[in-house]
Amino acid sequence: MSNKKEGLAPEQLSRGTEDADDVRLAVHGGSPVRRTPWPTYDKGAVFVHPEDEEAALRAIRSHLYFRYDYRAQQETECGKFEEELCRYFGSRHALAVSSGTTALALAIMAAGIPPGSLIACPGFTFVATPSAIVLAGCTPLLVEVDENLHLDLEDLRRRWTPEIKAILVVHMRGFAADMEALTRFAAEMGVPVFEDAVPALGAELNGRKLGTFGLAGAFSTQSDKSLNCGEGGFLVTDDSVLFARAVVLSGAYEGRFRRHFPDGDPPIATDLDLPLLSFRMDEIRAALLRAEMERLPIRLERFRSNYAYVAAALSDLTGIAIRQPVAPGAYLGEAFIFRVPGGDAKWFARALCCEGIDARNLGSDEDENVRVFWNWRFMFATEDVTEIKALLPDTTRYLEQAVDIPLSSSLSTEDCDHLITAVRKVAGAAGPRRSPPEPPQVASGNDRRYALGGRGAGLLHGPAPAAEAADTVRVRQQR
Ligand SMILES: *Cc1c(COP(=O)(O)O)cnc(C)c1O
Repeated sequence: MSNKKEGLAPEQLSRGTEDADDVRLAVHGGSPVRRTPWPTYDKGAVFVHPEDEEAALRAIRSHLYFRYDYRAQQETECGKFEEELCRYFGSRHALAVSSGTTALALAIMAAGIPPGSLIACPGFTFVATPSAIVLAGCTPLLVEVDENLHLDLEDLRRRWTPEIKAILVVHMRGFAADMEALTRFAAEMGVPVFEDAVPALGAELNGRKLGTFGLAGAFSTQSDKSLNCGEGGFLVTDDSVLFARAVVLSGAYEGRFRRHFPDGDPPIATDLDLPLLSFRMDEIRAALLRAEMERLPIRLERFRSNYAYVAAALSDLTGIAIRQPVAPGAYLGEAFIFRVPGGDAKWFARALCCEGIDARNLGSDEDENVRVFWNWRFMFATEDVTEIKALLPDTTRYLEQAVDIPLSSSLSTEDCDHLITAVRKVAGAAGPRRSPPEPPQVASGNDRRYALGGRGAGLLHGPAPAAEAADTVRVRQQR
């Protein structure tokens, strides 16, 4: 796409355009920075090569679609994929399954977390996280995130109760949570950590792959993730009992779980004491994923270099606060998130969309974004959004300030330059002079925040009676 077509001179499109103010914003009728669609997976911008297509076709032509047919584990696409995952993550076991959500639920169930337990998870994640907890028969207990949208350990400590039997950490939007601090805290409390590493496949924290810090790590291979085959997922773990149970639960019936232990006796005697949930992966998708694994390093490098380029070019921009990692480089780079602390993030995101960049204000009240906790209606005994927001006032404020932009691994340098120019242009027009006052907080941070914390019963267990919620308030206020 030529710059001329945009109606903007090349120098105005280049990075570092400080004088964006004299260019009318597209939201006010000016020319947009770009006119071609912003590349995202749901418009087909995925990283799939002809070799990957061939691999899938070979599997289709084999007519062997079921992973547990007459072949040995090491001869199947699923088996080979799992072997490659073990090598990649340096973990003892890997199990390919039907989705990231089922990988998470299987980890919780296989670890023997008693149904009905509370499991702590952050208030900023995709709805799949609390959904997986519900699927495993447990109840999510939401915890605040900090200004960089990482789980707030101090808040977790404040909310701690002995009913919490596990912590489900999320590396949301590919940014590592502070695993060292969180695993230390979990050890202190005597509970396991599970990692929703779904959006962080390949990202590392201090040289260690995300997904390998907890008892088990779960990943997705749905089309928006760093390996993509449509739908699918996997879990990695070093715990052989957890693994064997997860294999059975995922649907390895009539002793087929033994195939996953070709070198010795499996650590469980029988599969008859577990239900079979049919969360298996199939051979076609495993073949596609195996081929994609070969080019995963290229894809990861693109995510990383695009992100670093954009973040560096905007680091001096006042008025926005770019999400910071917990350690240098501890992110994947699949999304660019910043807050507009003194301004109107909803307007900012809308103005960016008009400039041709797909941007979303995470906490917008005009958008049923399921990455914000107040839209997880199934969790709460009330439908009153103000009341729900009051449970996590900090998370609410940060999400209302946050703008989220997907960074596909297929972005070109020109795409990145468009993003940089557009953010500068909009930020220039939304400077402190014109920004509206900080919106009123929905909660004061007093005892109301505890009103329904973790007590909203899940879909599978029916709504919590109002009396229970009232009791919870009373109990908490006595502290
Ligand atoms: C995509 C995603 C999931 C769900 O993965 P599926 O394969 O769609 O079930 C879970 N958690 C997070 C944080 C995600 O981004």
